[in-house]
Amino acid sequence: RASTGNLPFDSEVDALILKAYHRYLDLNDGQLADYIPILAQADPALFGLALTDIAGTQYRAGDTGASFSIQSISKAFVFALVCEEIGHSAVHDRVGVNNTGLPFNSVMAVELNDGHPMNPMVNAGAIATTALMPGATDVEQWEAIRLGLSRFAGRPLELDGDVYRSEMAANQRNKAIARLLESYGRLTTDPLETVDVYTRQCALSVTANDLATMGATLAGGGVNPITGERVVSAEVARDTLAALAAAGMYERSGEWLFEIGLPAKSGVSGGIVAVSPGKGAIGVYSPLLDPAGNSVRGQRACGYLSRSLGLNLFASP
Ligand code: GLN
Repeated sequence: RASTGNLPFDSEVDALILKAYHRYLDLNDGQLADYIPILAQADPALFGLALTDIAGTQYRAGDTGASFSIQSISKAFVFALVCEEIGHSAVHDRVGVNNTGLPFNSVMAVELNDGHPMNPMVNAGAIATTALMPGATDVEQWEAIRLGLSRFAGRPLELDGDVYRSEMAANQRNKAIARLLESYGRLTTDPLETVDVYTRQCALSVTANDLATMGATLAGGGVNPITGERVVSAEVARDTLAALAAAGMYERSGEWLFEIGLPAKSGVSGGIVAVSPGKGAIGVYSPLLDPAGNSVRGQRACGYLSRSLGLNLFASP
């Protein structure tokens, strides 16, 4: 089969994915997240590396079927669903698209600009984004998120109830952030109900392979390459990738773009999705994290693949 976009031929991609996997398999640097108690029970040895291209070819190495909670990576896809619903300008006004330069759970970030969340890829902005999901009740909003993210993945995603309960018992900080947004008149929903929906979206169970397909849907202008379904418009896919480039890797987003040159989103359970527009997306799972909360093996594997597959957006042809 011919190459997709400017990706090399299948056998070459297969070989490079395997090479990236073996290259970082013995890298055991980093820590498990433990502020959500159940995340500290993850197996630090797990490492799955997947790539889905926009024609729907899937490449896999390692533990690509291992399930984990999507955590902050949900922010990217809920943002896309909300963009689709309320449009470019309203998202810009209500949530913003800048990087706060502060950690993902920063309360100070909310204080910087009269409670304007500024950044949809950290907790304050993501909670504000979740509040904008269509639905008359929190139950309807949650169902719209679960179904929407399932369309990105091309299969029904389910809640991991243990992760949800573990985080609900430890998410005082997110409740405080939601109350702070409310105090500035930035939330029109019940803050605690919205935090409940947000916590559920973070506890959706996915695999590295799911992340690759979800990312490939953005890479392909909003069309899921496995199911052929249009999930969001091409404009929304483009806008979501712009927000990821600005802020998807927390306060390390600039360094990430400088080294790897791809829009991406990480989560504290150890997942990363990195998207190559018009080509495909990489999904990685490896739970040991750096101090910003980004998977250590995941970052290295994405860097290697970006270089070897020629994915850096800023490189001249
Ligand atoms: N659910 C987590 C939280 O709100 C997600 C954070 C993350 O992945 N960075 O703290």
